[in-house]
Order: sequence, then structure tokens, then C-alpha cells
Amino acid sequence: MKLSWNKKSTKPTTFFTFSFFAATLLILLDSPFPIVSALVTNNKTCTASSKSNKMTKFRSVKRVLMRPPAHWVGDGFRVFPVFADLAFKEEISPLLMFDYAAPKKFPAKLDHPEAKGVGQHPHRGFETVTVAFQGEVEHADSVGNIGVIKPGDVQWMTAGRGIIHQEYHSKEFTREGGTFEMCQLWVNLPKKYKMTKPRYQGIMNEKIPVVNLPLDADDSDTVLGTARLIAGELNDTKGAAKTFSPVQMWDVALPHAGSEVEIPYPADYTCIVFVRRGGVNIMSGDDNDGREQKSTQLGPQDIAVLQNDGSDRLKFRVTEPGSSIMILGGESLNEPIAARGPFVMNTQAELQQAMRDYSTGKMGR
Ligand code: MN
Repeated sequence: MKLSWNKKSTKPTTFFTFSFFAATLLILLDSPFPIVSALVTNNKTCTASSKSNKMTKFRSVKRVLMRPPAHWVGDGFRVFPVFADLAFKEEISPLLMFDYAAPKKFPAKLDHPEAKGVGQHPHRGFETVTVAFQGEVEHADSVGNIGVIKPGDVQWMTAGRGIIHQEYHSKEFTREGGTFEMCQLWVNLPKKYKMTKPRYQGIMNEKIPVVNLPLDADDSDTVLGTARLIAGELNDTKGAAKTFSPVQMWDVALPHAGSEVEIPYPADYTCIVFVRRGGVNIMSGDDNDGREQKSTQLGPQDIAVLQNDGSDRLKFRVTEPGSSIMILGGESLNEPIAARGPFVMNTQAELQQAMRDYSTGKMGR
């Protein structure tokens, strides 16, 4: 199954031979990116330290985000930008953005198998991570990587100093039709790696380590769930993806309604919980000193940002059978974020340089 790079549109170099303004405008108009509005610059220093002297046993919830309305990215991806107004803010560092394409049926297109998706566009300064749950995506980029990801697979693309790529439904999925469900996360790169060489990791499902939950479960009767470690580390098991700074990205299945599961999580890392399916209550506070635990209920597509309150454990009570959540985060980069369209740098000058480099054909080679 080959994807022909160049089929969909003219090369960007012939597109953008003119002014810097034309390039900027085209980037905004052709936008396969959810946030194209204002320049986001954040110069705050670290605010992550714990304010409370009292150590709670289980990490507490700082904020549950409102469910945002969906929008289309290209003609193939109907996504919910689930980080909403927290996207590109230091509060969720090292993560930047999260588009979730909830399950959606696409009809078979036997006669005109023109794939749906997003044509060629650039990125610089961060990584795009696409996780396939149902359906198939084909990726092709300017440094020669071509790949199809299927359910369970992950595509971890490091844009670094610049890449131009396209993202489409696979030809087979386009022909056969079916249910499509994916997510794409944008992970920031530390300042010193923003201009690194582009890299592509096509990670197949079978290469992703699976850890049983709870960690002390020793037989099938006590296993309450599983964590697929796309990136990061849990109980000395390392995730599949190579990252430039500590990033946790776990796809966690919690099939049993009524069960309670505890998971260790580094106290100093950003922690975000996304419910993909079903529901969980996040239990926080202490459970053994007589005080009542606090419970925060989450349903499908809810996002909870957890407090950096010094505790190093998460506790979930599963409320729906077949629940599935993602636990995301990592070490905060504590560096300024300047983001515009497909570029995420540290300063406005670097953003302008990125736009110039793209418009003059210097990006993606
Ligand atoms: Mn892209």
C-alpha cells in the first residue's frame, strides 16, 4: 500500500515563491491546525511546586475542562480539541494540543476511492503523535517516510527543524469504509532540540509494552486493567517511543465497573486524564486516616488536569464497564511557548523565521 507523495498538491516551493504575507495567509487558510488565532507566548517560570504541607495520598483534580465543540481537520478528521483553552499553555507542558476524533462511520467508496484527509503542510519545533484506535491513517513526509497505522499503532513524528507531511485515511479504509477513531497529540520539544533532525517512529501495536493493573496483580483474577505504555515509564517498564524529555503517554483499559485501581505516577510530572470511553471517578485525598476521599466524576471526552500536590499515586473508581482512559503528561519544560499555526517555538522571532523558511522552500529538506 503506497502513498504517492506529491499526488495531492503542488510542491510548497512552487506554492510559496512570493511574499512572506502570502505564505502566512496560506498557512492560516489551509489550516489543518486547530489553533491559528493569537500568538501564544508564555514567559512564566515554574509554578509547579506544592503549596500544601500536608501530603495527600492520591493526586487531586485541579480542573475538569469543558467539552469543546468538534470541528473538521481537512475532510477526513472530525475532532474535538479536548485541551480547549489550555492548549499551548505551560500548565500542561510538555503537551501542547490534543485532537480527539471520536468514533465516526465513513461509508465505503468503491467507485471513487479518493482518500479523505489533510494535504501537505509543515511543522517545526515539536512532535505530532497519532494514536489509532479504529480505522487507518497513511502518512507521507518530505524526508521520505511513508507509513500506514492501523488500530493499536502509533505514529510519533518529530518535526524538529521542519517537516512537510500529509495525513489521509488509508486507501484500504477509504475503499472499505468503517468506523474511524484516532487522536493526535502535539508534544513540545525542549529548546535545545527544536531544530533537531526530523524523525519518524512508526510504532506497531505489538511493540507497545502492556503492564497489568494493579501492579501487584499476580493472576488473572486480580488483574483489573492494563496500561499500554506508548511512552514513559511505569514500574520499571519503559514505553515504546523515544522521546526528547520525559513524556508519559499511557492508554489504559479499565473493563470492570465498580473496580478501584491505584497507579503510581511521578509527583513532579504534569498529569492529565482523558476519558475515551466509559467513565471513571478520580479519587483523591487520603483513604486511611478517617477523612473522606474526594471523588471527581469523568465521562466520555472529559479531561481532568491534576494538581501537583506532592502525591505520587493516582486512584480511579471505574463507573462504566469497558472504560478506557489515557493518562498523559511528563516533566514540564519551563520554557517560553510561542505558537502559531503549525509552528511551536520559544520566541516570536523564531516563529517568523519558521514562516520565512517555509515560504522560501527551506523547510522539509
Ligand atoms: Mn500535521
